[in-house]
This record gives sequence, C-alpha cells and structure tokens, in this order.
Amino acid sequence: MKLKNFINGKFENPISNEWIDNYNPSNGEVYGQIPNSSKADVENAYQTAKLAFPSWSQTTFEVRSRILIKISELLETNLQRFAEAESKDNGKPISLAKAIDIPRAASNFRFFGNAITQFASESHESIGQKAINYTLRQPIGVVACISPWNLPLYLFTWKIAPAIAAGNCVVAKPSEITPMTAFLLAEILNEAGLPKGVLNIVHGLGTTTGQAIIEHPEIKAISFTGGTSTGEHIARVAAPMFKKLSLELGGKNPNIIFDDCDYEDMLETTVRSSFTNQGQICLCGSRIFIEDTIYEKFKADFIEKVKKLNVGHPSENTTNIGALVSKSHLEKVLTFIDIAKEEGGNILFGGKKVIVKGFENGYYLEPTIIEVETDNCKVNQEEIFGPVVTIMSFKTEDEVLEMANKVKYGLSATLWTNDLKRTMRLSNKLQVGIVWVNTWMLRDLRTPFGGVKASGVGREGGFEALRFFTEAKNVCIKY
Ligand code: NAD
Repeated sequence: MKLKNFINGKFENPISNEWIDNYNPSNGEVYGQIPNSSKADVENAYQTAKLAFPSWSQTTFEVRSRILIKISELLETNLQRFAEAESKDNGKPISLAKAIDIPRAASNFRFFGNAITQFASESHESIGQKAINYTLRQPIGVVACISPWNLPLYLFTWKIAPAIAAGNCVVAKPSEITPMTAFLLAEILNEAGLPKGVLNIVHGLGTTTGQAIIEHPEIKAISFTGGTSTGEHIARVAAPMFKKLSLELGGKNPNIIFDDCDYEDMLETTVRSSFTNQGQICLCGSRIFIEDTIYEKFKADFIEKVKKLNVGHPSENTTNIGALVSKSHLEKVLTFIDIAKEEGGNILFGGKKVIVKGFENGYYLEPTIIEVETDNCKVNQEEIFGPVVTIMSFKTEDEVLEMANKVKYGLSATLWTNDLKRTMRLSNKLQVGIVWVNTWMLRDLRTPFGGVKASGVGREGGFEALRFFTEAKNVCIKY
C-alpha cells in the first residue's frame, strides 16, 4: 500500500515520486511505502496552510470545538481499524493500541475541543494610572508538529489538537517509522468537516522532510517530541529565526521504592512501568532503586512476575510484549545489553532475542532486568528505550535522591512510599517535570507535561499547550 501526503484536503503523491519502504516489525517484512517528501512538498503544505489561516483563525471557538469533537467521535467509531493499523505499524500489542493509543488520540481531540471553549486571557486594571491592560491570545499562524514512533497517533494528535483548537494551521510530520495512523487520520479530517489546508500531513525522513519543515522561515513555532539529540539539532536550526519551540525529549526515569510502600501495588505497577509498549515510552521507569531492607525480596518477586510476561505476535490477545519498532532499534537495545555485561552488570533475566513461531524475522526481545552495582554505568545513565531496566539497592533517602538526579535527563520520577513527609521532601527536590507517587502514568490532560534538563523545554497539556500555540499581546487603554 502506498501512503500519500495530505495537502489542502487532498491525498497527494510526493512531487519527486520517491518512496520509502514501511516495515511490519512483527515479521520484518515491507508492507507499504510512504512518500519521501522533499522541500517542494513541504512548501506546498506551507502555502495551503497559509491560505487557510485567515479564515480558520477567525472561525468561532464553537465551530472549532465542534469539529474537534467530531474528529474524536470518528476515531472512536473506527477504534478497531486504527488499533489494528497502529499495532501492525509499530509492533505493539493490539490490546494496548485498543486500550491506550487510539482512545487517547480521541481524548486529545475531545479535550482540546472542550478546552478552547474555556480558554481565557487576563486583564489588569492599573489603578491610579487610569488604564486597563488586557491580553490578547492570538494564534501564531502556520506551525509545525513533529512526532516520534513510540506512541504514533497518541503523540501526533497531542500536538495537532491544541494547535488547531487555538486557530493555527499546521504542517505535521509523523515518524517515518510509523506513518500509518496519521495517514488514516487524514480521511477522518474531511469527514469531520475540517476546512481544507488547516491540517497538512507530510510524510518523509527526519533529515530531509523534517529538516525542510524546521528550516522553513515562515513556520513560526515547532512542537517536537523525539530524541534529545534531534531536539538539540532543532533548537540550533530554529534559534536564529527566533521560532517558538516546545521540545519533549528523552528520559531515564527513576522508580524509587521504599520499604513502607503498598508492596503488591508497587510490584504490579513496576512491571507495567518497566515494560509497557516494550519499554518504549519516554516515561518508563527504567532505573529502579529499591530500599535495601526489601531488595532481595523485591528482586525475587520482580523476576517471578516478569518471567510470566508473554512475548508474542502483537495481534494475539495473550501477548504482553510485542515486537520492537525496527531492526535497527532492536540492534541498538541489544548493544546496550552487551555494554551492561562489559560494565559488570548482572543480567538477572532476559537479554536475548525471542523467536516467535511463524514470525521468525520479527524484532522480538525478552524483557530484561540488569542488576547494577553503581548508578554511574552507561546502562544506568543513557536512554535505552527498550524492554530493559536496571535495579540496584539504596540505604538512605539522601543517597537515592542524589542518584535519581545524577543523570542528564529530567522527565519523570515515580516514588513508592506511604510517608507523607518523605513524599513532600522528595517531590520538591527531584529534578523532573512529573512526579508520580504510588502510581505511574496516571494522566490528567489538564496538567502541565514536559521535562527539565535534557528532557526538554516547555510544557504541553491543558492550557499550557494553548498558551504555547498562541502569542500573548498586551493592549493598554488609558481612560
Ligand atoms: P527522533 O528524534 O529520531 O524522531 C522524532 C521525529 O523527528 C520523527 O518524526 C523524525 O522523522 C523527526 N526528525 C528527525 N530528524 C529531524 C530533523 N533534522 N528535523 C526535523 N525533524 C526530524 O525520535 P524517535 O526515535 O522517533 O523517538 C524516540 C525518542 O522520543 C526517545 O528519545 C523518547 O524518549 C522520545 N520521546 C519523548 C517523549 C516526551 O514526551 N518527552 C515522548 C515520546 C518519545
């Protein structure tokens, strides 16, 4: 199947007529092709977005809201089809795509469809100066949304929904590794009545298509989710043009477990926070620190639970862990496992490829637990982004806090304890954008989402996203 770009409400071939193969990670076979879009395709997308902007930005919020909610409903109606497509494209279990990815994409549109009706700006009365100041929150114009492969439609729509809700027109690029659901979304946009040109979807490689988008001098804001090195590159390109940037980047998140926690809840959630989506979630708790008093018990119980995880074909309902997203990603993760061995890490479980019968060329890997003696090793410092976690024990709160913060990343942290004062102390001091206490990945779309340090710049979610996609203008009236 040949996917197409979606420009001005129509499906278009790339101008160069060049294509890129799209792989099915569950069997390693090419099952489609996507446009290898060039600068000229991006320019077309930009021009139609620019044409659509004057009218879209003046559309009432009721109309915008209604269209977004309609998109959400159509995603829900097409849940099975989208979930199958996501699972085939990404390798994730279909059960996960059905329970999380697609419902969340629908929620993104519904949430921002509602949020825009409540979005307000401030006014400041300057008493004594006989003046009133009010703030206009105006859409920026044409903006870019660039997303990664791990939660394809979920993250693509997380950016697009607030961008268009706020009255912008968009040039969007999904990951070339998982383009399918972005392509399917385009069909829904017309059905929902989104005016032509408001959202344009261009497929292609990061280094060519993505590069053309970030270099475009008239695209004034970029919302990007992806790797830290790509984010750094985008920041360099965008800085001289003074573009507004939201960068949601990598993570190496601590999962800190104290002996006073609710043990069974912690154990079950830790299995999820380690291996959901094959460990390919920026929020996965890939560094597990356990208080020494329960370390041996945790180690035995954790291995026991992880052993029961079923690695298998993504379409089977019994599968807990599907295929990794690509051959090169599988190889990267395996290299980290070799590094762990060289560094003296103890592979407690997993570490090897899995051959799934009938799908021998798929990219399957065992869930892997590595015991490390020091937090300073590479596997404990660098983002692996696969089904691989490290575990080590700690003695004191100060010691674990230091280790938790001693990485270049700062996305999220999970804390397991029933001690309120300790919770408050650590939540204040952890250098991250999100702290989960006695839970993991519990999301409320109103909350600010993002990281500190090498995990990014800016916040998305709730009104933060609407603020990002608007410019604040102060108007001062003297009376
Ligand atoms: P990536 O950086 O390789 O690619 C992300 C997107 O950027 C893709 O669409 C890609 O085509 C595009 N891109 C690449 N080079 C570009 C360039 N020069 N100009 C413009 N666009 C370019 O990341 P990935 O491998 O797809 O995703 C995995 C990474 O994403 C991990 O590091 C993960 O932690 C991170 N991530 C972060 C969050 C978060 O919210 N912080 C969420 C999910 C994933």
